[in-house]
Amino acid sequence: MHHDVNPRSILIRAHAPEVPVLMRHFERLASGRAGAPHEALRALAEEAAGDDLMLLSPTETGDYRYDACGRTLPRTTGRDRTGGYVSNLQSDVAAFTIDCYDHALAEGVATYTLHRTVRSARVGIFERLILPTTDADGGRHLIVFCRQMSFREEFLMLLMETSPFGIVAVEAVRDADAALTGLSVLSANQRATTLCGSEAALELGCDLRKSLPFLAAEEHWNRLRQAVELLRPDQFEVAFMAGGRQIWLQVSLALLGDGLVITLSDISNLMLANQSLQQRAATLALEVGIERATRQALSDEIGLREEREKELRRLAETDPLTALLNRRSFTEHAQTMLGHAMTAAAPVSLLIVDIDHFKRINDSYGHPAGDAVIRAFADLLLGVFGARDALVGRFGGEEFAILMQGSTEEAAAAAMRMQQALAGKTLPVSETLGLGVTASCGIASWQDGETLAALTSRADQALYRAKSEGRNRIAIAGSDGLAAAA
Ligand code: GH3
Ligand code: MG
Ligand code: MG
Repeated sequence: MHHDVNPRSILIRAHAPEVPVLMRHFERLASGRAGAPHEALRALAEEAAGDDLMLLSPTETGDYRYDACGRTLPRTTGRDRTGGYVSNLQSDVAAFTIDCYDHALAEGVATYTLHRTVRSARVGIFERLILPTTDADGGRHLIVFCRQMSFREEFLMLLMETSPFGIVAVEAVRDADAALTGLSVLSANQRATTLCGSEAALELGCDLRKSLPFLAAEEHWNRLRQAVELLRPDQFEVAFMAGGRQIWLQVSLALLGDGLVITLSDISNLMLANQSLQQRAATLALEVGIERATRQALSDEIGLREEREKELRRLAETDPLTALLNRRSFTEHAQTMLGHAMTAAAPVSLLIVDIDHFKRINDSYGHPAGDAVIRAFADLLLGVFGARDALVGRFGGEEFAILMQGSTEEAAAAAMRMQQALAGKTLPVSETLGLGVTASCGIASWQDGETLAALTSRADQALYRAKSEGRNRIAIAGSDGLAAAA
């Protein structure tokens, strides 16, 4: 059974037009807890709504007896209850009804109720106006207006009760200067109660901020106040904790008289889904960031490795003492150069240069001094041949090889420039010591179809001859492998 008791705001809540008429009579006649004088009110009430009236009197056992019933009630309820007792009604309806009657009688106040009954599968909603009276002999009575609601009203009630939205109607409470001091609950459906997180039904007539504490915060109260004062519908969201979980409600404010209809929609699941989506998006952004950083680190590492490989390759190709090409890489580059020369049919010459009596330097000044001489000699070779795009390499010890573009004569001229440069200076060994050295040179010009090994062998033989002929000289290999005198 659904029920709704309202001792206040009866005029706003009542549906039947007879209710305000009866209320006016009651308020005019009533005085204190006695309520209205029975005979006087009964006469007026019967005139206004006789067919829908029930007259009841309390019994000594806490029950109520039907003294009389109007004509309509037996038609809608199927029986005339005159002479019967309230306790004979369906038990929950009986308990609720006796409660309401007791209260009206004790306080002497008019009370308005709505209740739903289920009778042979038919649902009916009844509105009742309970008016307590006292007769001339001091006997207490109740004059009760009772009418089943019309289809439209029942339909509306049913909608309210089955709505997935919480619906609360409130009216403005104003002080003597008509300033808004609060909002009082006129009506609320069951869903509104559930959404508040409270078990008890929303108390009608209670201050809204007490009934729905989540609307009591300054910012929300201002929105409610402005909606009423400025006649401006509004919508906002509120969040609060109830039963250990976070609840989000969307609150819509529509205007109704000097008050509002507040619709509460639970958007908690929506907000949770939204939050989890946002979290997922943040995680994804993080993952993308990590992925990007990893890719950057990988690309940095690859760059570093390429640099290291280049350096290793350079070191592998370079003689560590002089930074000239070592014998292996000199040979590789020389093969390439001979390949180009073959295609272009351009002359190429190989010079093998060896410092004379180098062993003596080591013996006299020590190995480090020998190293210094080798380094200084290498620099001198680069100075003479480097500018000509020649390959300059160290073959080992104090022996060097130069492969340059040009004929035998050009090579001999360059070798002579080298010897002149050597003759004119000492090679620095330390800050205080410089040593004068001489070098011998064997030259062989590349012959068509000749291998690098054969070319090297001819240059070697020429060098050998330069040494054997007294050193500090240049010998040129002939085409037959014999060296001609420089
Ligand atoms: P020649 O005029 O006939 O060329 O006589 P040489 O003394 O220059 O030649 P030899 O082949 O008799 O001696 C070369 C010496 O060079 C022997 C070796 O110990 C020394 N040597 C070889 N490599 C290095 C090196 O890297 N540094 C130093 N300081 N000495 C080296
Ligand atoms: Mg030597
Ligand atoms: Mg040597």
